[in-house]
Amino acid sequence: MSATGRFKERVSISNGSDSAKFLPVAEPDLTVAEEEMLLTAFRSGWISSIGKFIGQFEQEFATFCESRHGVCVSNGTAALHLSLLAAGIGPGDEVIVPALTFVATAAAVRHAGATPVFVDVEPEIGTMDPAAVVRAITSRTRAIVVVHLYGNPADMDSLMPISRQQGLILIEDAAQAHGARYRGMKVGSFGDMATFSFYGNKVITTGEGGIVVTTDSALDARVRFLRDHAMDYERRYWHPEVGYNYRITNLQAAIGLAQLNRFQEITEKRLKILEMYRNGGLEDRFGIKFNPKRIRTEATPWLICVLLPEDVAPEIPYAIRAELKEGGVDTRPYFIPLHDLPPYVNYRAVAADGSSCLTVSRSLSARGFNVPSSGNLTRQDVDRVINTLGRALERVSAS
Ligand SMILES: *Cc1c(COP(=O)(O)O)cnc(C)c1O
Repeated sequence: MSATGRFKERVSISNGSDSAKFLPVAEPDLTVAEEEMLLTAFRSGWISSIGKFIGQFEQEFATFCESRHGVCVSNGTAALHLSLLAAGIGPGDEVIVPALTFVATAAAVRHAGATPVFVDVEPEIGTMDPAAVVRAITSRTRAIVVVHLYGNPADMDSLMPISRQQGLILIEDAAQAHGARYRGMKVGSFGDMATFSFYGNKVITTGEGGIVVTTDSALDARVRFLRDHAMDYERRYWHPEVGYNYRITNLQAAIGLAQLNRFQEITEKRLKILEMYRNGGLEDRFGIKFNPKRIRTEATPWLICVLLPEDVAPEIPYAIRAELKEGGVDTRPYFIPLHDLPPYVNYRAVAADGSSCLTVSRSLSARGFNVPSSGNLTRQDVDRVINTLGRALERVSAS
């Protein structure tokens, strides 16, 4: 039996009311290829943070991103933290981040001692709005962290010149968009640095893990140095600064290499699932959208996103998700705008019109949710989600 088969068996649970299996939003796509690479690493005895698979994974992933250097770290948040530190960002500096993203984007700015400034996002696609970025820039602004949200590349044609003209560092948080293309170019190749996560629910995973990608060898060396206790390469146990232990293990890198080899297979399976959802007839019938995307981009199929119509009443998304849960279908809401979270309420928030009311972020957050997205879902699984979602939508639009 394949590793995937065993994994599925483990996560299958009965939901009581219905003997149909519970469909999780995300699950890793693991096969015997990952199992064999992991065993090779294990049997070599190099199970800690020295081993040939780490350097190999770093090189292959950097090449995959059409970039030059890669430094693997323990997770995507550590990758963001070290990128900011390598860029010299610290106390007193402002870093512009989108309001609609996973919290780690802003947490890393705080870890670096800097000040996050939240900007609103573009309708539907949800990536940072360049007009809001322009409004948010002050004399203290040092960097922009652009997030390629839910696999969708941000508007790099607008953001690149803004950062260049203002002399800002541009970091891409591509944790949700491995392999996505913007005007034919891979995400991760646009910024001064780019970060990725290999957490278990991302497109490819190492269990936990992350990487910083850059074409700049000085930045590469700086991230490497900080990752490993800031130890001098020439003089063992000489630490000229306070560093971090943000290393990855050879075991994780082995899994990562096998996942990267299967990247095309993994994403093609996920694209087929997305097509099944799009062809289910719900978009036209109820005015919903599955994974809205930008033109001239190749989004990475990460989580399947359902975006309800703009005029939907606030209680409707909850009712729909509750009904899906009853039918054994897992869902997850869109991210909560970060400037609404307790640690971040006192930071500046800037919309495209210069106001502090981030209406687009709030609107997307209120009417978006994710449904089962695994590439290993069967046609019957997807049909079950579509039918359950269709019944829920019908009921709420009738009432
Ligand atoms: C997952 C994620 C991260 C953090 O990655 P971890 O590996 O969980 O630390 C950062 N940014 C975004 C946008 C993410 O989705």
